[in-house]
Amino acid sequence: MNILRLIAIFIVIWLLIRIVKNYRNRAKLDASRRNSGNLGTMVKCSHCGLHVPKQEAFRKGSRYYCSKQHADED
Ligand SMILES: [Zn+2]
Repeated sequence: MNILRLIAIFIVIWLLIRIVKNYRNRAKLDASRRNSGNLGTMVKCSHCGLHVPKQEAFRKGSRYYCSKQHADED
């Protein structure tokens, strides 16, 4: 009876540790995502008006585009 109770407590503690670890990982991911979002400037596509991160945008002169296709079409 005591051993069963110990095993049950052990399982509960193990589950709690797993949940806390998962939560921490998720919080870290969210934080890094938020940070990169702040660092990256959003630019508007001159063709369709879609907002894309500057690093991923296609540049043509002084204009930015969401895709190579839109850069070619405009
Ligand atoms: Zn576009």
